[in-house]
Amino acid sequence: MNKLKVAVLGATGAVGQRFVQLLDGHPWFEVTALTGSDRTVGQVYGEACRWVLNEPMPEYARSMRIAPTEPGLDAVLAFSALPSDQAKEIEPKFAQVGHGVCSNASAYRMEPDVPLLIPEVNPDHTALIRVQQRRRGWSGFIATNPNCTSTGPTIAFRPLHDTFGVKRAFVASMQALSGAGYPGVASLDTVDNVVPYISGEEIKVETEPRKMLGTLDGETVVDAPIRLSAHTNRVTVIDGHMVCVSLEFDRAIGPAEAAQAMADFQAPPIVQSLPSAPHCVIEVRPEPDRPQPRKDRGAGRGMTTVVGRVRADPLFHVKFVVLSHNTIRGAAGGSILNAELLVAQGMVK
Ligand code: NAP
Repeated sequence: MNKLKVAVLGATGAVGQRFVQLLDGHPWFEVTALTGSDRTVGQVYGEACRWVLNEPMPEYARSMRIAPTEPGLDAVLAFSALPSDQAKEIEPKFAQVGHGVCSNASAYRMEPDVPLLIPEVNPDHTALIRVQQRRRGWSGFIATNPNCTSTGPTIAFRPLHDTFGVKRAFVASMQALSGAGYPGVASLDTVDNVVPYISGEEIKVETEPRKMLGTLDGETVVDAPIRLSAHTNRVTVIDGHMVCVSLEFDRAIGPAEAAQAMADFQAPPIVQSLPSAPHCVIEVRPEPDRPQPRKDRGAGRGMTTVVGRVRADPLFHVKFVVLSHNTIRGAAGGSILNAELLVAQGMVK
C-alpha cells in the first residue's frame, strides 16, 4: 500500500516529539510536514527542537523545515499536539478543508459530534465522524484521544464495566512531569515534592471515561452511568502516569474475578491487527510492589496498560493500581492507533 501523508502539528513539544519518534518507519504513514509556532517556523527541526526523548531524533526529521501551522499542508492526516487554546482555533480550519485531524488536545473532546477514542474501548464511536461532517459541513474531521490520566483507568474499566457494571469509581493519580509538556513544571516546584493540583485535570478524569464507556445510540453517545471522583497529583517521575483506583460494582465481586476479567480482555478483531496495537492490552502483575513507572511504562512498547495490587476494598468492592505511559499510550501512540483504526474502517481516503 502507498503510505498516507501525515503532518505533525506542534512537532517540537513533548507530545510532538513522541509523534516524530513513533512515526519513524511507520508501515502506513509517512511524515511530510512538521509544524510549530512563530517561535520556530522556518527553522530546521534538528536545530529548533530541544529533543528530550532517550531515543535518538529520527534521521528523516533532522533536516525538515518547520512549517507554519496552517491548513493546506501536503498531508491527508494531521496529528495535533497543539496546546488546547491553539487547537480550538486551528483544528477546525484543517478539518474544514479536508484534513483528518487526530488530536491530543482537550478542546473538542467532549463535543457531542466528536469521537473521544480508545480503539480497544469504543471503536464504534468513530461513527460520530459522519455526523460531524454533515452538521459542520467539513470534508475532513476531528477525532480525539483522551487526557493521558483518563486513558489507563478507562482501558481497565472496559472489561470490568462490561462484565460486572461499574457503579462508582474513586481515583487518585501520580502524574509524570512529561504530562505537563516541555519545559513543564519548574524544577524548584517539583524536586523533593508532590504538587496536589493540576489545572483542569480532575474534571477531565471525572467525565471523559463516562463518554468513552458510553453507548452509541443513533447520532449521540449516551454516557455510561458511572460516578467518578478524582484527585490528581504531579510527582517527580519523568514518564508514566500511575492511578490508584477503588471501584464499586452493581454486585459484590472479589479481586480474583476483577483481575481475571482484566487479564482476559482482548481488543476487538479490527483493532488487534493494527500496527500500533499492543499484543497484550492489559497486563495484570501479581507482585505486591508492581507496577512501577520506571520498570513497567515500556510494556508493549508503551502501549500496554499495566495493572497490579488487585485486592479487596473495605469501602468499595475492589481496588488496584493502573499504570499507563502518558506520552505514548496516553498521547501520541494512542492518537496513531486512532488513525490506524480510522484507516482500517475506511474513514480516511
Ligand atoms: P508542549 O510541550 O508545550 O508543546 C506545545 C507544542 O505546540 C510545541 O510544538 C509548540 O511549538 C506548539 N505551539 C504552541 N503555540 C503554538 C501556536 N500558536 N501555533 C502553532 N503551534 C504552537 O505541550 P505537550 O505536552 O506536547 O502537549 C500538546 C497537547 O497534547 C496539549 O493539548 C496537551 O494538553 C495534550 N496532551 C499532552 C500529554 C502529555 O503527556 N504531555 C498527554 C495527552 C495530551 P513551538 O515549539 O514552535 O513553540
